[in-house]
Amino acid sequence: ETNNQLEAATRFVQDADRFLVVSHVNPDGDAIGSTLAVGQILKQLGKRYVMINESAIPQKYQFLPDCNQIRSPEDLRTEAPFSHVIAVDAADADRMGECRKVFARDVHILNIDHHATNDRFGTVNVVIPDAAATAQVLYDWVESMGLEWTQELATCIYTGLLTDTGGFRYANTTPRVMNQAAHLIDRKVEAHRIAEEVLETTTLAHLQLLRKALETLRLSKDGQIAWMWIRRRDIEATGAKEEDWDGIVNYARNVMGVDVGILFREVNEKTIRVSFRSRRIVDVGALAQTLGGGGHARAAGCTIMGSAGEVERQVLQKVASALRRVVS
Ligand code: 5GP
Ligand code: MN
Ligand code: MN
Repeated sequence: ETNNQLEAATRFVQDADRFLVVSHVNPDGDAIGSTLAVGQILKQLGKRYVMINESAIPQKYQFLPDCNQIRSPEDLRTEAPFSHVIAVDAADADRMGECRKVFARDVHILNIDHHATNDRFGTVNVVIPDAAATAQVLYDWVESMGLEWTQELATCIYTGLLTDTGGFRYANTTPRVMNQAAHLIDRKVEAHRIAEEVLETTTLAHLQLLRKALETLRLSKDGQIAWMWIRRRDIEATGAKEEDWDGIVNYARNVMGVDVGILFREVNEKTIRVSFRSRRIVDVGALAQTLGGGGHARAAGCTIMGSAGEVERQVLQKVASALRRVVS
């Protein structure tokens, strides 16, 4: 079945000459690595392409090859709309944000992803929920087309595998992932350097924001839910950017005895962004989906309209009842 989907993807790229490569807003290592990997693939196939993301690329990923070529939707206003789009690591069309503004009206989308909640918004869909990362799906695609494992391509794919497995620690770290990572290191990927850039480097603003967030840490009575807030005034005081709150939610989930960690972030008076991480009991992807978001069983998110108090009450109630349902 995977092979059929990959063959359909190959036909999709054979049938056109010019492509837009896009991923989700606030891109992570898999989103950026996969965007750049598709660029490398199209380059090898001799195709024209433009890579785009609604958000700025976090500084820690800027060492990736051709990263400076990822453009923003505003940059493309004067270009002809794109009739062929390759979307990577995006569970639904909304996740591409403003990038959709440069799509042609009769756009054809190749949707390559690994989220179980993916709604198959593409014209062609390669959605493999068993894959550890979108980069893993691309790994198989590269092999199926018999393309060359250049150091650049290998580096982009490796970064996606590394980040979506939490540094080869999460449950999606299968023998296959490790074999592929080994193969990529054989292709001159500098694993230690990527780990240092991506996992072992933080901004000062991140630490300052973390300090503020930790001051708000609360636990439920049974100790199974932990949550934190990032308020607008904390963002202003620390000068933090989107990339600076990456990873903060893990501190809540990592507390001993906690299954679900939650990070609430005040976007504005009426909009709250919610991140979920779970250890093993609650499927937070399914839970986030009932709140209009989505994601994976162990990591998910959503955006909720309402006041801070309302949103917190609603979310904590949902998580508590999900825990009760599974435990009883
Ligand atoms: P984060 O908490 O890091 O923003 O997101 C965790 C995971 O949940 C990511 O893998 C991301 O793909 C997914 N996710 C986060 N927010 C949303 C959302 O609003 N909609 C969907 N469909 N997935 C989300
Ligand atoms: Mn992602
Ligand atoms: Mn991913």
